[in-house]
Amino acid sequence: MPVTTLQDLIALIGTEKVFSREDGKFDSNTFDSYGTDRTKVYPPNYQILLFPESTDDVAKIVKYAFENNISIVPSGGRTGYAGGAVAKNGEIVISLNKMNKVIDFDPFLGALHVQAGMITKDLHAQAEERGFYFPVDFAATGSSHIGGNIATNAGGVRVVRYGLIREWILGLTVVTGKGEIMRFNGEILKNNTGYDLKHLFIGSEGTLGIITETVVKLTKPPKDIRVVFLAVPEYKSILEIFKETHNFSLPMLAFEFLTDYCLEKVKEHLGVADPFQAPSKYYVLMEYEINEEGDEEKLFAILESITEKELITDGSIAQNSRQNQTFWKYREGISESLSLAHTVHKNDISLPLRNMEAFLTDMQSLLDANYSGFEIALFGHIGDGNLHLNIVKPKALSDKDFFQRCKSVDPEMFALIQKHKGSISAEHGIGLLKKEYLGYSRSEAEIATMKAIKQAFDPKNIMNPGKVLG
Ligand SMILES: Cc1cc2nc3c(=O)[nH]c(=O)nc-3n(C[C@H](O)[C@H](O)[C@H](O)COP(=O)(O)OP(=O)(O)OC[C@H]3O[C@@H](n4cnc5c(N)ncnc54)[C@H](O)[C@@H]3O)c2cc1C
Repeated sequence: MPVTTLQDLIALIGTEKVFSREDGKFDSNTFDSYGTDRTKVYPPNYQILLFPESTDDVAKIVKYAFENNISIVPSGGRTGYAGGAVAKNGEIVISLNKMNKVIDFDPFLGALHVQAGMITKDLHAQAEERGFYFPVDFAATGSSHIGGNIATNAGGVRVVRYGLIREWILGLTVVTGKGEIMRFNGEILKNNTGYDLKHLFIGSEGTLGIITETVVKLTKPPKDIRVVFLAVPEYKSILEIFKETHNFSLPMLAFEFLTDYCLEKVKEHLGVADPFQAPSKYYVLMEYEINEEGDEEKLFAILESITEKELITDGSIAQNSRQNQTFWKYREGISESLSLAHTVHKNDISLPLRNMEAFLTDMQSLLDANYSGFEIALFGHIGDGNLHLNIVKPKALSDKDFFQRCKSVDPEMFALIQKHKGSISAEHGIGLLKKEYLGYSRSEAEIATMKAIKQAFDPKNIMNPGKVLG
């Protein structure tokens, strides 16, 4: 990157917001960490890191980049699993870390206007302080940004009840690839004035522009929560349990599953005890809202019914919030326990629930044929039809050989997903990791339309080039 670029950027936004690899203000690992995410597949390679503090700062940077044909990678909490926040081709990295303030609160609607670099857990706390609740939550929200969540249309553990983050976004302020500031909708609920452009930015993975502010809708928190942990002997029973729960009008917050292998990994990693005396092949975690008199009884009735139908071999209802958290650890500890101890190849896929069983039968044949002797970690937001399929690298195999093997099998896996009408990415996004496979989930006409939309917002292709659309 020429020295003049650095000087120009300092002149535009101030020296305290501009860092370069050479200036030595960050050690090399810290500097690298702003231009990468959790994929650990692509080594970062970039020279300039910026910390804007306002939408105006971002607009100045992008306008300059547009005029000088410089590519940009937006960097949030870097918890992504698709390589979207990786800067590997000398792009400028714009970290939203310092854009973490509350801008406004509407107490009538229950809506919070914040900068996009706010850590998701901090947003939860801001909502709670005001007597409200922001329901998008998962194991990485202590590090992820609300802007990163929006850019990936994040889901999480309560999608069965609250939907994806898209449902909670009232307004967005963005800076497009031309450096223009656009404010979509603000904080009104009703606005039928043509295309709702904010939805194009939700899930765009930084390829259309930078989200700098958002107005999120809040709700009221559940009065009380009960987590139920179940030992399930057969895969088939998992969806039968889910179906059975529809017969009881009790608001479900989460319906998650994991295999015995995942449970073992969490136990090793966190040193937690076995949840049940006898081991089981599968486990299900259900979470319910207990709001009214009689809800507790409904929960017992659900347990009774699935026991009578022999869908479970054991089950336990948490007695207090501490036990709720203990049960959640078995589910939320999986990603971390896998990634800290192993190299894994991740697939985050979704299927229509009714096709899940047929898909799993096909998938098992594919795994047997291609990954014989490999450890497989299967878990996920099964109530949403979302599976996390993780292939664990055997110790004897080099990283290179392992990833090559997985890459050669992926197309077959994606063809199966296509056959069963699913999606190759449920919630992690496409980024760099899945871009060559986009055609398994989107038609040529759709991809051409996406490219035309990108062209409209980012005519010089400077916003996260090479991600999603290639
Ligand atoms: C342990 C663990 C559990 C997880 N569980 C879930 C889960 O249950 N559900 C789920 O959906 N995800 C999950 N994830 C994945 C990840 O946390 C989400 O994708 C998250 O939304 C990414 O947010 P981030 O701020 O870390 O974004 P980053 O990783 O920094 O960036 C993600 C993408 O968004 C772009 N981006 C970031 N900020 C902006 C911005 N302000 N404007 C424009 N573009 C931007 C980046 O360029 C990149 O393309 C999990 C991750 C981990 C590590």
